[in-house]
Amino acid sequence: MVLSRKIAYINLSDASVRISPVPSDLRRKFLGGRGINMHLLSKVYSQELDPFSPENPLIFGAGLLTGTIGFGSRVNITAKSPESGHLGDSNMGGDFGAELVKAGFGHLVITGKSRRPVYLMVKNKQIEIRDAGTWKELDTVETQRAIRQALRDEKIQIACIGPAGENLVRYAAIRTGLKNSAGRTGMGAVMGSKNLKAVAVRGTLDITISDPNNCLKAYRLQLKKLMETKWVQALGKYGTPLLFQYANAMGFLSIRNNQSTSIGDQGYALEAEALEPYSTGMLSCFGCPAHCRHRYSLTEGRYKGTKGEGPEYASIGSLGTKLGNLDLENIIYATELCNRYGMDTISTGSYIAWAMELYQRGIIDRGMTETPLHWGDGKAILQLIHRIAHRKGFGSILAEGAFAKKIFKELSRDYLLDIKNFPIEMTDERLPKSFALGMATSTRGACHMRSRPSLDVLGLPEEVLKKIYGGPVSSQFSSYSGKGRMVWWHELLNAVCDSLGFCRFLTVFSSPHAPQYQQFSKLIGLSTGLAMTPRELKIIGERIYTLERMMLVRDGISRKDDTLPKRYFETPIPAGPAKGEVISSEGFDGMLDEYYRLHGWDKNGIPKRESLKKLGLSG
Ligand code: SF4
Repeated sequence: MVLSRKIAYINLSDASVRISPVPSDLRRKFLGGRGINMHLLSKVYSQELDPFSPENPLIFGAGLLTGTIGFGSRVNITAKSPESGHLGDSNMGGDFGAELVKAGFGHLVITGKSRRPVYLMVKNKQIEIRDAGTWKELDTVETQRAIRQALRDEKIQIACIGPAGENLVRYAAIRTGLKNSAGRTGMGAVMGSKNLKAVAVRGTLDITISDPNNCLKAYRLQLKKLMETKWVQALGKYGTPLLFQYANAMGFLSIRNNQSTSIGDQGYALEAEALEPYSTGMLSCFGCPAHCRHRYSLTEGRYKGTKGEGPEYASIGSLGTKLGNLDLENIIYATELCNRYGMDTISTGSYIAWAMELYQRGIIDRGMTETPLHWGDGKAILQLIHRIAHRKGFGSILAEGAFAKKIFKELSRDYLLDIKNFPIEMTDERLPKSFALGMATSTRGACHMRSRPSLDVLGLPEEVLKKIYGGPVSSQFSSYSGKGRMVWWHELLNAVCDSLGFCRFLTVFSSPHAPQYQQFSKLIGLSTGLAMTPRELKIIGERIYTLERMMLVRDGISRKDDTLPKRYFETPIPAGPAKGEVISSEGFDGMLDEYYRLHGWDKNGIPKRESLKKLGLSG
């Protein structure tokens, strides 16, 4: 049964394993995945908790419906983040989550620190801690291959770290397959700090569905509707790179660390169609009908022999335009290097962009960087990736991420575009005000995945928006009006998606016709027997988001931190389709007020006592 999955508590210091059922009230309050992970982390989270200490728990959590019928089978990985120093959490696709639940587990809570490199073998209700000494320094692809060979089982699913995680690069990722990763917030570095090289899972247990026939019927109906949307059709053909073209055309792409926001016709070189000659086919994460992941192969040229998956839009922007790099083959290769080293492509690109702007402005020089750091220099970018992963020379400074502010001169701070010590991604949000607010308020720092109300790009009629969001929302992309409501609404929905294991690409994130609470409620009931109304699910979303906020409050986070980089307020976009766009303090404050009010938080962004009580979080 879905509801009989267990939580395993593994302590690597004394090699102990304890297995417990998931209490049913926890399921009702937090579902699974991100929700239950947050509950578990909140028990030990404090300002003093050192992300690299044995006490920081690394929590793997499969969504409630992961491995069953639904819209994806994802897993969240959660801990205190060594990258931001605040809440860390990352959502990963692939086949790992489904295999974990087939082995009988919903959550793994890993604490302690092993004296030697180890891996976990999770198989059909059993967990063993095994030696991984011979695999030290292997990259993420080699590690997975070595484990499968050693265990003579090609079906084992593995989440592992590469050299970046072992070397405690603060934005190291945990990776499964060729590309799927828990990329953001440095979960790979937490894993490295525990001397844990990999988690290998193999499960052959049955997953029993409460009402299989009706569940299948309901799923087919929802699927048909979803597959008819233009978004999913395009996603299945081109993958996320299709978003690049739109961001460039509208003028919300990061160019040279957000010094401009569009490259006009030069963008053709990096659009989804430009990737087609390298593509060798599309594939899906477990249980997903969309198959948005493309495989590629470089068969000639400088990087001949490179094969892998991606690059996604986020990597094209972060290792491409953000660095002034328009060489697609170089971007593909740089992405592959990050994947193999186990390093987040978004953060890697962001910190290199920061260094390049500091170099451009003469704040740092060759005495520190060792080589010139000019925009668009593909060779320098590759060299830096190698040096960051191995923490060599200047690479070791950049491996510190935003904490390198302490090493660079005081003037450097304005040129790292970060929020809550976490860098802005491949976009620029001076045009889309809802996107800007979502970045400012995200509970994991400057992250588009916590809310990103993509429906805002569609310019839907305001009556339709009102119906979706339950209140007035402007259909103007650059307007502030109602955007606090929009962000709040998507934050709750995404928290629920992550707790069910659904991929947000297959929900109302992308189309008003895609599944949301109503459909989720039906699938939960038929899969698990748990009766949950759409309204109850929305309250669960609020509970999860507020619990995350409360952890940030323990760090001293409040309204003063829910803001945007100085450049967004002070420098209008200089040219291109979004020329002149800037964030006004007044407009931004208005959105923030509306947003806090809807969450039930006070003017300072602190959840009110009565709101906590209503959500059952005050105990
Ligand atoms: S839409 Fe893409 S990323 Fe999401 S689950 Fe499907 S294949 Fe994976």
